[in-house]
Amino acid sequence: MSGPKYLLCPQCGVARFFIVDEQGDNIYFHVDFSGTPFPTEASAADLSGRDFSAVHCCGCSWVGTLRKLVKYI
Ligand SMILES: [Zn+2]
Repeated sequence: MSGPKYLLCPQCGVARFFIVDEQGDNIYFHVDFSGTPFPTEASAADLSGRDFSAVHCCGCSWVGTLRKLVKYI
């Protein structure tokens, strides 16, 4: 059995991210190896149509795009 295949923050290696919606609320998600964001179990948020141009890391101050996430650090 292998573990979950989540993309990681290039700076700290955490696999949990959030974006800030129009109301100022944080929406939490993971990103799979194909670069597709999906909601955490806790948030169960609808991610369709969201703006992922400013992805925030939950573990450090990193902010970037989905394409900057890495498989390994
Ligand atoms: Zn980070």
